[in-house]
Amino acid sequence: MKPRKIPQRKCVACQEMMPKKELIRIVRSPAGDILIDLTGKKPGRGAYLCGKVGCFKLAKKSKAFERALKVPVSADIYDRLEQDFIKVEDEFQANKEFQGDDEDGG
Ligand SMILES: [Zn+2]
Repeated sequence: MKPRKIPQRKCVACQEMMPKKELIRIVRSPAGDILIDLTGKKPGRGAYLCGKVGCFKLAKKSKAFERALKVPVSADIYDRLEQDFIKVEDEFQANKEFQGDDEDGG
C-alpha cells in the first residue's frame, strides 16, 4: 500500500491549505474573462477558494483575486462572480458528495 498523495491548494481568501476537490477554482481565461471553473480543468491562471460564500466575501474585501490572478478585477466582476458562486455552491457541494473518495489523481 503506497500512501496516497492528495493534491492540496491554498484558498486565496483564508490562506488555508485544502484538498483540491474541497475548493472552487476561479480562472482567468486566455481571453481575459474571469469565471468560476467547477471542472478545474479550464485553461488559464487559476485561484482557489473554499466552497463557502464567506470566503468569497473575504476574497472580495481583500481583493485576493487581483493578487492571485495578477489582473485588476473590477467590482462588477466581483458582483457577477459572487452571484455565480452562490449558484454553484449547491452544485459544488452535491458533486463533492457524489465523487466520494474516488481520486483519479488528475
Ligand atoms: Zn477559504
